[in-house]
Amino acid sequence: MSANTGELVGAFVTPPIALPQLVPSRTCLQCDVCCRFPDPDSALRPYFTENEITQALAGGIEATAFPNRLGSQVILVPEPHGEGYLCPAFDAATSTCRIYEQRPLDCQLYPLALMWNEPHDQVLLGWDTKCPFMREEIPGEIQRHADRVMALLDQPDILDHVVAHPRLIGRFQEDVVVLALLSRLTDAVAKQWGTAPLHRFTLDDIPRMTTVLDRSGWRHAQSLAAYSPVYHYMWNGLLAYWWMELEGAFCLFAQSPDGWFMPLPPIGAGSIDKSLCGAMGLLRRWNGDSPVSRVENVPSQLVSEFERLGYRLTPKEPDYLYRATDLEALAGDRYRSQRALCNRFEREQPFEVSTYQVGDRQDCRALLADWSRQKQAEGLESFGAMLLADAASAHEVIWSQASALRLTGKVVKIHGRLCAYTFGYWLTSRTFCVLLEVADRTVPGLAQYLFWETCRMAVAEGAEYINTMDDAGLPGLRASKQAYHPIILIPNVAAFPACAS
Ligand code: SF4
Repeated sequence: MSANTGELVGAFVTPPIALPQLVPSRTCLQCDVCCRFPDPDSALRPYFTENEITQALAGGIEATAFPNRLGSQVILVPEPHGEGYLCPAFDAATSTCRIYEQRPLDCQLYPLALMWNEPHDQVLLGWDTKCPFMREEIPGEIQRHADRVMALLDQPDILDHVVAHPRLIGRFQEDVVVLALLSRLTDAVAKQWGTAPLHRFTLDDIPRMTTVLDRSGWRHAQSLAAYSPVYHYMWNGLLAYWWMELEGAFCLFAQSPDGWFMPLPPIGAGSIDKSLCGAMGLLRRWNGDSPVSRVENVPSQLVSEFERLGYRLTPKEPDYLYRATDLEALAGDRYRSQRALCNRFEREQPFEVSTYQVGDRQDCRALLADWSRQKQAEGLESFGAMLLADAASAHEVIWSQASALRLTGKVVKIHGRLCAYTFGYWLTSRTFCVLLEVADRTVPGLAQYLFWETCRMAVAEGAEYINTMDDAGLPGLRASKQAYHPIILIPNVAAFPACAS
């Protein structure tokens, strides 16, 4: 990740941290590998520490690029004339970095890379074979460069910088050639973050999480929509998700601007006593006494166990669960207004419904922008506006990775213009969850029709229940969800340790 506009090998850049560069600028300017990414949540997006964010902001990068001012991977922007995504600091017209002199350590290191070994117990320094220059470079020269970088990584300020930001250490990649084991860094990271391997939660981890959820018994037709990996994974562009095995349980952690929390209890068969105790110990270590330490989406089966362990339980917004055939039929007086709107839409609009294709992404993006403007013009409350802004990166992840995430997506076009889209997933073979819906608000009945269409599709494929998730505490959303007559509000509880000690 180094769109190099600096001049030569070995040139040092400005403090606080400056590493020598191996790849000459003429090579970087001709290359189309760095700073561009296929997916919005690419694990290789550059990570900026707090200082580096401050410098990037001073260099003109927009604040919205950084979901967490204390340190975060950058939020990528869509490539204006292509299918991929760009670092917001990258100037596509000149193929250069707009903040080259202040670019983060993560970018300065490239094409060297810090990563874990395969068992995840040693930090390694390697070089990335994706860099075309390195494939031509003489091994002796690479090793000499690596030796210089390793000497710098041993300096206390740089060592502390990496330890404070473990996301600078990537997961094992087979196409990175290992140059050295970094024992001092490994020990320092273990001292700060614990010895159990902490892994970034990526697409590759979804089958593992699916398997443990299936074994847990918590996922069933009437459980919370949160008992699905995709529910969490979609926020990967915004938050950092991590996982580790503790006492045989799969523990998912989310790193938010406020601190770390568990979006789900430890997932495993049997008692959670030991794994929960271990996970809470880590949260205390990472968050200190902050009240952000908590476990979200506690299933009803575990409520008494959390109480026994002394946790304080707080109700959260429940999920709305509907009988699928009710929503398919929209029969009777209680659905009269929705039925009328659907009929009006069918009568008035020459529309077509089709399965979402990744080529619809640009049109979805344009619709989301229009829809957000429509919502704001209607006087959206500030919390709703914040949720909308946060959701943009999740929509990008979904448009880009719908197929890999096994999401069901539909789009509605009127006169060939994409004017609505929806995505959902099967929680179990009996329950379909509606993850998101966006419909042009100027077209009467479109939103109702889209939801009806989704429910009819789900019933045709065997759904007994439709879960539309929670209402985020927004009164308007609550009213529209209630108007469809849920059969159950699935309780949702967050658990807080009784005391911070
Ligand atoms: S900060 Fe600069 S060097 Fe790093 S990825 Fe972005 S554009 Fe490239």
